[in-house]
Amino acid sequence: MQQTSQMIDPFGRNISYLRVSVTDRCDFRCTYCMAEDMTFLPKKDLLTLEELDRLCTVFVEKGVRKLRLTGGEPLVRKNVMHLIRQLARHLDSGALDELTLTTNGSQLARHAAELAECGVRRINVSMDTLDPAKFREITRWGDIDKVLRGIDAAQEAGIKVKINAVALKDFNDREIPDLMRWAHGRGMDLTLIETMPMGEIDADRTDQYLPLSSMRASLAETFTLTDIPYKTGGPARYVEVEETGGRLGFITPLTHNFCENCNRVRLTCTGTLYMCLGQEDAADLREALRASEGNELVSNAIDEAIGRKPKGHDFVIDRATRRPAVSRHMSVTGG
Ligand code: SAM
Ligand code: SF4
Repeated sequence: MQQTSQMIDPFGRNISYLRVSVTDRCDFRCTYCMAEDMTFLPKKDLLTLEELDRLCTVFVEKGVRKLRLTGGEPLVRKNVMHLIRQLARHLDSGALDELTLTTNGSQLARHAAELAECGVRRINVSMDTLDPAKFREITRWGDIDKVLRGIDAAQEAGIKVKINAVALKDFNDREIPDLMRWAHGRGMDLTLIETMPMGEIDADRTDQYLPLSSMRASLAETFTLTDIPYKTGGPARYVEVEETGGRLGFITPLTHNFCENCNRVRLTCTGTLYMCLGQEDAADLREALRASEGNELVSNAIDEAIGRKPKGHDFVIDRATRRPAVSRHMSVTGG
C-alpha cells in the first residue's frame, strides 16, 4: 500500500506516529502510575481486536508511519499477538516503517520469538531498578526475574531493547549509574523519564519528582556526556556516555518544552483519541467507527481531531493543591 496522505496539525506538525493503548489493565501496579486499588474499564467498553486493527489501518492510510502498542500492559491483552500479526501486514507492504511496543517485560519471554517473526525490531522495556526487593516495592508485585528472562528472550530473538526508567527521588536516583552500566553493558540504550502528574495515585507526586537536569549534572561528575543528535522519533534528547560507549536519553516533559516537534497522537482501548498527553481534550472515534462499515466517517473524525491538536501541554506538579495536572492515569494512554 502506498502512503496516500499526510495529517498536518494547525501548527504545521506532521502526525506520523500513533501510540495505541490496547488495554488499561496491567499485572503490575507501579506506584507512580497506578493506585493499588484501580478500577479498570468494563470489558464491554473495549474495542475488539478487529476494531483496533481497522482503526490503526485508517491511521496508516492517513500517513502514520510508526505504530507503538502500549497500555496498561499490552502483552496482557488476550490474543494481542493476533492483532500484532494483523498489523504486521503494513510493514510487509511498506506502508509502515515501524511496529513496536512498550512493555513491562513480564510476559516477554513467551512472546519474544513471535514478535520478532512479525517484524518487531525494537521494543522499550520499563525497568526502574535492578534490586529485586526494590523492584517489588515500586511495581507493588512484580517479579524482576521474569522481566530479566523476557529481556534475554527478546535479545536472543534479535530484537533491540531500550530500557526506560522513571527517575524517582530517594528511590533510584543513586542507582542510575549502575542501571546505566548494566544496560549499556548489554548493548541497550537507557532513557530516563521525569514523573508526570497524571491520575490520582496513593503517593505524593511532589515527593517523587526528580528534575532530570539535576540528575544529568550529577552523572556528569562521573561520566563524560556528549550531546548527540540521535533521534528515535520520540521526545528524548540523547547523550553519548564515553565511559560505557552507550546512549543515555532524557525525557523531560516538565523542564523542557518537548512539544515543538510533537508528531504523535494517542488512542485508548475504547477508541478515544488524545491529541496531547498533557491535555484533557479528546475525540471519540468509536462511535464513528461503529456507525458505518466504510471508513469515511472515522477518517473525517480523525481529521477534525487533528485540527484541534494543541500547541503544547500544561503539566505542572502543583505543590499548593497536590492535584494531578491531568486526571486520567498514564495507563489510559500508555505514556
Ligand atoms: N506497562 C508498560 C510499561 O510499563 O512499559 C506500558 C505502559 S506504561 C504507562 C509506559 C511508560 O510510562 C512506562 O515506561 C512507565 O514507567 C511510564 N510511566 C507511567 N506513569 C508515569 C508517570 N506518572 N510519569 C512518567 N512516566 C510514567
Ligand atoms: Fe503497569 Fe506500566 Fe503502569 Fe507499571 S507503568 S503499572 S507496568 S502500565
